Amino acid sequence: MRGLTSPLWPIRYKPLPDELLTSWLVRLAYGHGLKVQTFCNLIFGNRRQVWNRDVDRLAPEWLVDELSRRTGTPLEVAYGTTLRSYEGRLFPKFRSSGALLWLQTLKMYHRKREGYGVQFCGACLADDPLPYFRKAWRVSFNTICIKHNRMLLDRCPQCGSAVMFHRMEMGRGSAFEAGSMAACHACGCDLRESPAISIMSYDEGATMWHLRLCRSIVDGVDLRDADINVGLMRVMHQLTTLLTTRFQNRGLDQYICRQLRVEGIELLPGRMPIETRPLLERHHMMQLVAWLMADLEPRLRGAWRAKAVRYNRMIKDFDDVPQFYAEIVEGFSDWRRQ
Ligand SMILES: [Zn+2]
Ligand SMILES: [Zn+2]
Repeated sequence: MRGLTSPLWPIRYKPLPDELLTSWLVRLAYGHGLKVQTFCNLIFGNRRQVWNRDVDRLAPEWLVDELSRRTGTPLEVAYGTTLRSYEGRLFPKFRSSGALLWLQTLKMYHRKREGYGVQFCGACLADDPLPYFRKAWRVSFNTICIKHNRMLLDRCPQCGSAVMFHRMEMGRGSAFEAGSMAACHACGCDLRESPAISIMSYDEGATMWHLRLCRSIVDGVDLRDADINVGLMRVMHQLTTLLTTRFQNRGLDQYICRQLRVEGIELLPGRMPIETRPLLERHHMMQLVAWLMADLEPRLRGAWRAKAVRYNRMIKDFDDVPQFYAEIVEGFSDWRRQ
Protein backbone atom coordinates (compact mmCIF):
# COMPACT_ATOMS: atom_id res chain seq x y z
CA MET A 1 0.00 0.00 0.00
CA ARG A 2 1.36 3.36 -0.97
CA GLY A 3 1.99 5.73 1.88
CA LEU A 4 3.21 3.05 4.26
CA THR A 5 6.79 3.45 3.09
CA SER A 6 7.04 7.17 3.77
CA PRO A 7 8.22 8.27 7.20
CA LEU A 8 4.79 9.31 8.36
CA TRP A 9 1.83 7.02 7.77
CA PRO A 10 -1.36 8.42 6.23
CA ILE A 11 -3.20 7.52 9.44
CA ARG A 12 -1.44 8.75 12.55
CA TYR A 13 -3.68 7.86 15.45
CA LYS A 14 -2.12 8.59 18.81
CA PRO A 15 -2.63 6.29 21.79
CA LEU A 16 -5.94 6.88 23.57
CA PRO A 17 -6.03 7.31 27.36
CA ASP A 18 -4.41 4.25 29.01
CA GLU A 19 -4.41 2.41 25.69
CA LEU A 20 -2.45 -0.82 25.40
CA LEU A 21 0.24 -1.08 22.70
CA THR A 22 -1.42 -3.90 20.73
CA SER A 23 -4.76 -2.12 20.82
CA TRP A 24 -3.11 0.96 19.32
CA LEU A 25 -1.46 -1.24 16.67
CA VAL A 26 -4.76 -2.91 15.72
CA ARG A 27 -6.50 0.47 15.49
CA LEU A 28 -3.75 1.70 13.17
CA ALA A 29 -4.15 -1.37 10.94
CA TYR A 30 -7.92 -0.90 10.73
CA GLY A 31 -7.43 2.82 10.19
CA HIS A 32 -5.45 1.98 7.07
CA GLY A 33 -8.19 -0.40 5.97
CA LEU A 34 -5.95 -3.42 6.40
CA LYS A 35 -6.13 -6.67 8.28
CA VAL A 36 -3.87 -6.76 11.30
CA GLN A 37 -1.63 -9.50 9.90
CA THR A 38 -1.31 -7.79 6.52
CA PHE A 39 -0.46 -4.49 8.14
CA CYS A 40 2.17 -6.07 10.40
CA ASN A 41 3.76 -7.97 7.50
CA LEU A 42 3.95 -4.77 5.47
CA ILE A 43 5.56 -2.83 8.26
CA PHE A 44 7.73 -5.38 10.03
CA GLY A 45 8.22 -8.07 7.39
CA ASN A 46 7.65 -11.76 7.88
CA ARG A 47 10.63 -12.25 10.12
CA ARG A 48 9.41 -10.11 12.96
CA GLN A 49 6.36 -11.73 14.43
CA VAL A 50 4.19 -9.60 16.63
CA TRP A 51 1.52 -12.01 17.75
CA ASN A 52 3.40 -15.07 18.95
CA ARG A 53 4.72 -13.26 21.99
CA ASP A 54 3.41 -10.84 24.56
CA VAL A 55 4.65 -7.62 22.97
CA ASP A 56 2.69 -5.45 25.38
CA ARG A 57 4.96 -6.76 28.05
CA LEU A 58 8.19 -7.17 26.06
CA ALA A 59 7.96 -3.73 24.46
CA PRO A 60 10.38 -4.53 21.60
CA GLU A 61 12.20 -1.47 20.33
CA TRP A 62 11.64 -2.34 16.67
CA LEU A 63 7.92 -2.20 17.26
CA VAL A 64 7.49 0.70 19.66
CA ASP A 65 10.05 2.95 17.95
CA GLU A 66 8.44 2.30 14.58
CA LEU A 67 4.95 3.20 15.78
CA SER A 68 6.33 6.30 17.45
CA ARG A 69 8.22 7.41 14.31
CA ARG A 70 5.48 6.67 11.79
CA THR A 71 2.68 8.32 13.74
CA GLY A 72 4.68 11.26 15.07
CA THR A 73 4.02 10.17 18.65
CA PRO A 74 6.68 11.09 21.24
CA LEU A 75 8.70 8.00 22.23
CA GLU A 76 7.76 8.48 25.85
CA VAL A 77 4.07 8.33 25.01
CA ALA A 78 4.60 5.27 22.81
CA TYR A 79 6.45 3.42 25.59
CA GLY A 80 3.71 4.47 27.96
CA THR A 81 1.42 2.00 26.15
CA THR A 82 3.57 -0.96 27.19
CA LEU A 83 3.31 -2.89 30.43
CA ARG A 84 6.96 -2.14 30.95
CA SER A 85 5.85 1.34 31.94
CA TYR A 86 4.69 -0.13 35.28
CA GLU A 87 8.33 -0.68 36.21
CA GLY A 88 9.02 0.84 39.60
CA ARG A 89 5.34 0.80 40.51
CA LEU A 90 4.06 -2.76 40.23
CA PHE A 91 7.37 -4.57 40.02
CA PRO A 92 10.89 -3.44 40.82
CA LYS A 93 12.77 -4.10 37.60
CA PHE A 94 11.69 -5.18 34.14
CA ARG A 95 12.96 -8.54 32.91
CA SER A 96 12.17 -9.96 29.52
CA SER A 97 11.81 -13.52 30.79
CA GLY A 98 10.09 -14.88 33.85
CA ALA A 99 7.16 -13.50 35.78
CA LEU A 100 6.58 -9.85 36.56
CA LEU A 101 4.53 -9.06 39.63
CA TRP A 102 0.88 -8.23 39.02
CA LEU A 103 0.93 -8.58 35.23
CA GLN A 104 -1.49 -11.13 33.86
CA THR A 105 0.26 -13.74 31.74
CA LEU A 106 -1.14 -14.79 28.38
CA LYS A 107 0.47 -18.23 28.62
CA MET A 108 1.42 -18.03 24.98
CA TYR A 109 1.71 -21.24 23.07
CA HIS A 110 2.64 -20.31 19.55
CA ARG A 111 -0.16 -18.02 18.57
CA LYS A 112 -2.75 -19.63 20.69
CA ARG A 113 -3.30 -17.93 23.98
CA GLU A 114 -4.48 -20.24 26.68
CA GLY A 115 -4.52 -17.87 29.61
CA TYR A 116 -7.18 -15.29 30.40
CA GLY A 117 -4.74 -12.42 30.51
CA VAL A 118 -6.79 -9.69 28.87
CA GLN A 119 -9.69 -8.34 30.90
CA PHE A 120 -12.28 -5.82 29.80
CA CYS A 121 -15.34 -3.85 30.83
CA GLY A 122 -18.21 -4.09 28.36
CA ALA A 123 -19.53 -0.67 29.41
CA CYS A 124 -16.14 1.00 28.84
CA LEU A 125 -15.99 -0.55 25.36
CA ALA A 126 -19.55 0.63 24.73
CA ASP A 127 -18.72 4.18 25.84
CA ASP A 128 -15.80 4.44 23.42
CA PRO A 129 -16.47 6.01 20.03
CA LEU A 130 -14.17 3.23 18.80
CA PRO A 131 -13.67 0.43 21.29
CA TYR A 132 -10.11 -0.01 22.53
CA PHE A 133 -8.29 -2.00 25.16
CA ARG A 134 -6.73 -0.54 28.30
CA LYS A 135 -3.34 -1.22 29.81
CA ALA A 136 -4.81 -1.48 33.31
CA TRP A 137 -6.90 -4.45 32.10
CA ARG A 138 -3.71 -6.51 32.17
CA VAL A 139 -3.10 -5.85 35.89
CA SER A 140 -3.94 -8.83 38.10
CA PHE A 141 -5.44 -7.02 41.09
CA ASN A 142 -7.56 -4.79 38.87
CA THR A 143 -10.73 -6.89 38.79
CA ILE A 144 -13.22 -4.01 39.03
CA CYS A 145 -14.19 -1.21 36.68
CA ILE A 146 -14.15 1.85 38.92
CA LYS A 147 -15.91 3.92 36.28
CA HIS A 148 -18.92 1.63 35.93
CA ASN A 149 -18.86 0.04 39.36
CA ARG A 150 -18.99 -3.47 38.05
CA MET A 151 -16.77 -6.50 37.73
CA LEU A 152 -14.41 -6.72 34.79
CA LEU A 153 -14.60 -9.88 32.70
CA ASP A 154 -11.71 -12.01 31.50
CA ARG A 155 -13.52 -14.07 28.88
CA CYS A 156 -16.36 -13.94 26.39
CA PRO A 157 -19.66 -14.17 28.32
CA GLN A 158 -21.17 -16.26 25.54
CA CYS A 159 -18.54 -18.85 24.60
CA GLY A 160 -15.93 -18.50 27.36
CA SER A 161 -13.01 -17.80 25.02
CA ALA A 162 -10.08 -15.67 26.12
CA VAL A 163 -10.09 -12.22 24.54
CA MET A 164 -7.91 -11.92 21.43
CA PHE A 165 -8.96 -8.65 19.90
CA HIS A 166 -6.27 -8.85 17.20
CA ARG A 167 -7.73 -12.05 15.80
CA MET A 168 -11.22 -10.79 15.16
CA GLU A 169 -10.99 -10.62 11.40
CA MET A 170 -9.22 -13.93 10.83
CA GLY A 171 -10.98 -16.21 8.43
CA ARG A 172 -13.70 -13.70 7.78
CA GLY A 173 -12.59 -12.55 4.38
CA SER A 174 -12.72 -8.81 4.14
CA ALA A 175 -15.80 -8.55 6.27
CA PHE A 176 -14.17 -6.66 9.10
CA GLU A 177 -14.60 -3.18 10.29
CA ALA A 178 -12.98 -0.91 12.78
CA GLY A 179 -15.60 -1.51 15.43
CA SER A 180 -14.79 -5.17 15.59
CA MET A 181 -12.20 -4.99 18.36
CA ALA A 182 -15.17 -5.34 20.69
CA ALA A 183 -16.33 -8.61 19.15
CA CYS A 184 -15.31 -12.05 20.43
CA HIS A 185 -12.92 -13.58 17.89
CA ALA A 186 -14.38 -17.04 18.48
CA CYS A 187 -18.15 -16.55 18.41
CA GLY A 188 -18.56 -12.98 17.20
CA CYS A 189 -20.53 -11.97 20.28
CA ASP A 190 -20.43 -8.22 20.97
CA LEU A 191 -18.42 -7.75 24.17
CA ARG A 192 -20.01 -4.33 24.62
CA GLU A 193 -23.24 -6.07 25.46
CA SER A 194 -21.74 -8.23 28.21
CA PRO A 195 -24.04 -8.46 31.22
CA ALA A 196 -23.14 -6.15 34.10
CA ILE A 197 -22.03 -8.06 37.19
CA SER A 198 -22.10 -6.01 40.36
CA ILE A 199 -18.97 -5.90 42.51
CA MET A 200 -18.68 -8.93 44.74
CA SER A 201 -17.86 -7.73 48.22
CA TYR A 202 -17.04 -9.67 51.41
CA ASP A 203 -16.40 -6.68 53.59
CA GLU A 204 -17.04 -3.00 53.05
CA GLY A 205 -13.65 -1.85 54.34
CA ALA A 206 -11.81 -4.41 52.22
CA THR A 207 -13.74 -3.42 49.12
CA MET A 208 -13.01 0.25 49.71
CA TRP A 209 -9.32 -0.56 50.04
CA HIS A 210 -9.40 -2.66 46.88
CA LEU A 211 -11.30 0.03 44.96
CA ARG A 212 -8.74 2.63 45.94
CA LEU A 213 -6.00 0.38 44.63
CA CYS A 214 -7.81 -0.11 41.31
CA ARG A 215 -8.39 3.62 41.07
CA SER A 216 -4.69 4.27 41.54
CA ILE A 217 -3.70 2.01 38.68
CA VAL A 218 -6.32 3.44 36.33
CA ASP A 219 -5.90 7.11 37.17
CA GLY A 220 -2.41 6.96 38.55
CA VAL A 221 -0.27 8.27 35.77
CA ASP A 222 1.21 10.38 38.50
CA LEU A 223 4.30 8.62 39.83
CA ARG A 224 4.07 10.51 43.08
CA ASP A 225 0.85 8.68 43.78
CA ALA A 226 1.55 7.23 47.20
CA ASP A 227 -0.97 4.42 46.94
CA ILE A 228 1.07 2.26 44.68
CA ASN A 229 4.69 1.53 45.33
CA VAL A 230 6.87 -1.49 44.86
CA GLY A 231 7.16 -2.26 48.57
CA LEU A 232 3.40 -2.40 49.00
CA MET A 233 3.05 -4.46 45.83
CA ARG A 234 5.61 -6.98 47.02
CA VAL A 235 3.96 -7.37 50.43
CA MET A 236 0.53 -7.84 48.84
CA HIS A 237 2.02 -10.44 46.56
CA GLN A 238 3.55 -12.29 49.51
CA LEU A 239 0.09 -12.33 51.11
CA THR A 240 -1.42 -13.90 47.98
CA THR A 241 1.18 -16.66 48.24
CA LEU A 242 0.28 -17.18 51.91
CA LEU A 243 -3.38 -17.47 50.92
CA THR A 244 -2.68 -20.51 48.79
CA THR A 245 -0.27 -22.19 51.21
CA ARG A 246 -1.73 -24.99 53.30
CA PHE A 247 -0.49 -25.96 56.74
CA GLN A 248 -1.92 -29.15 58.22
CA ASN A 249 -4.81 -28.66 55.89
CA ARG A 250 -5.50 -25.23 57.33
CA GLY A 251 -5.15 -22.15 55.25
CA LEU A 252 -5.15 -18.41 55.62
CA ASP A 253 -7.96 -18.05 53.08
CA GLN A 254 -10.29 -20.29 55.11
CA TYR A 255 -9.40 -18.42 58.27
CA ILE A 256 -10.24 -15.01 56.76
CA CYS A 257 -13.47 -16.33 55.23
CA ARG A 258 -14.48 -17.54 58.70
CA GLN A 259 -13.69 -14.13 60.18
CA LEU A 260 -15.78 -12.45 57.50
CA ARG A 261 -18.49 -15.12 57.68
CA VAL A 262 -18.41 -15.68 53.95
CA GLU A 263 -18.32 -18.87 51.99
CA GLY A 264 -15.51 -17.81 49.67
CA ILE A 265 -14.57 -19.94 46.68
CA GLU A 266 -12.36 -22.93 46.22
CA LEU A 267 -9.06 -21.90 44.66
CA LEU A 268 -7.46 -24.05 41.99
CA PRO A 269 -4.88 -26.09 43.90
CA GLY A 270 -1.15 -25.78 43.46
CA ARG A 271 1.41 -23.06 43.50
CA MET A 272 -0.13 -20.98 40.75
CA PRO A 273 0.79 -17.33 41.06
CA ILE A 274 -2.12 -14.90 41.07
CA GLU A 275 -1.08 -13.65 37.62
CA THR A 276 -2.14 -16.94 36.05
CA ARG A 277 -5.46 -17.32 37.84
CA PRO A 278 -8.93 -16.60 36.49
CA LEU A 279 -10.66 -13.37 37.39
CA LEU A 280 -13.04 -14.74 40.01
CA GLU A 281 -10.20 -16.32 41.96
CA ARG A 282 -8.16 -13.16 41.77
CA HIS A 283 -11.05 -11.05 42.95
CA HIS A 284 -11.66 -13.42 45.85
CA MET A 285 -7.96 -13.32 46.75
CA MET A 286 -7.86 -9.54 46.51
CA GLN A 287 -10.82 -9.20 48.85
CA LEU A 288 -8.91 -11.22 51.44
CA VAL A 289 -5.61 -9.42 50.83
CA ALA A 290 -7.37 -6.04 51.04
CA TRP A 291 -9.00 -7.06 54.32
CA LEU A 292 -5.56 -7.88 55.75
CA MET A 293 -3.93 -4.76 54.32
CA ALA A 294 -6.63 -2.44 55.68
CA ASP A 295 -5.38 -3.22 59.23
CA LEU A 296 -2.36 -5.40 58.69
CA GLU A 297 -0.69 -5.87 62.06
CA PRO A 298 -3.62 -7.02 64.20
CA ARG A 299 -5.20 -9.06 61.42
CA LEU A 300 -2.04 -10.90 60.52
CA ARG A 301 -1.33 -11.42 64.22
CA GLY A 302 -4.80 -12.90 64.69
CA ALA A 303 -4.23 -15.28 61.78
CA TRP A 304 -0.85 -16.29 63.12
CA ARG A 305 -2.22 -16.92 66.63
CA ALA A 306 -4.97 -19.05 65.13
CA LYS A 307 -2.22 -21.01 63.34
CA ALA A 308 -3.69 -20.11 59.95
CA VAL A 309 -0.27 -18.93 58.86
CA ARG A 310 3.16 -19.98 60.05
CA TYR A 311 5.73 -17.48 61.21
CA ASN A 312 8.52 -18.66 58.92
CA ARG A 313 6.19 -18.63 55.88
CA MET A 314 5.52 -14.95 56.25
CA ILE A 315 9.04 -14.14 55.11
CA LYS A 316 9.81 -17.32 53.18
CA ASP A 317 11.40 -16.66 49.77
CA PHE A 318 10.96 -12.96 50.43
CA ASP A 319 14.22 -11.07 49.88
CA ASP A 320 14.74 -7.49 50.77
CA VAL A 321 11.58 -7.38 52.90
CA PRO A 322 10.00 -3.91 53.01
CA GLN A 323 10.51 -2.22 56.36
CA PHE A 324 6.86 -1.92 57.42
CA TYR A 325 6.25 -5.61 56.84
CA ALA A 326 9.53 -6.69 58.46
CA GLU A 327 8.61 -4.77 61.60
CA ILE A 328 5.20 -6.39 61.80
CA VAL A 329 6.56 -9.90 61.40
CA GLU A 330 9.46 -9.29 63.80
CA GLY A 331 6.92 -8.19 66.38
CA PHE A 332 5.47 -11.72 66.30
CA SER A 333 8.88 -13.25 66.98
CA ASP A 334 9.31 -11.13 70.12
CA TRP A 335 5.93 -12.21 71.34
CA ARG A 336 6.89 -15.83 70.76
CA ARG A 337 9.98 -15.58 72.94
CA GLN A 338 8.16 -14.11 75.91
ZN1 LIG B 1 -16.09 0.25 32.63
ZN1 LIG C 1 -17.28 -15.77 22.27
